[in-house]
Amino acid sequence: MSLFPTVKSKRTFHFNFLESDRPSLCGCCGDPVGPLLVEVDGKWFGACSMEHQEEIKKGNRSPKVAQVSRAGVLHAKSKLKERYKEFSVKNKSWAFRDWSEDDRVNFFESYTREYLKHANERARNGVDGSYEIQDKTRTE
Ligand SMILES: [Zn+2]
Repeated sequence: MSLFPTVKSKRTFHFNFLESDRPSLCGCCGDPVGPLLVEVDGKWFGACSMEHQEEIKKGNRSPKVAQVSRAGVLHAKSKLKERYKEFSVKNKSWAFRDWSEDDRVNFFESYTREYLKHANERARNGVDGSYEIQDKTRTE
């Protein structure tokens, strides 16, 4: 037996996931989440409100599915041109496969962030539908 008391390590909860795997959407309604989380059977869910934390605990989950916007993809692509050049110079290759894993992940993270910024902006301000009206290929 040791003369020194054994120090039990304090159990820390698995909050490390927040940096790499933070929920983006409320598990109940599918809205973007803030800082609220709720644990149910060892799984963590994002919640948009305390009311939805309770709904998630009851098992009420969102049936909503996010849709891809081509305009959002093009927006994110245009925002990442400079970043692509920066990483290409750093990795001495324009071929994405030659970049370091960290740089590839960083690039996709930046791309996704730009896409979500665009999606959030469209959700707040709506989408201009006048593009269809300007279609000059129609002869009617
Ligand atoms: Zn919600």
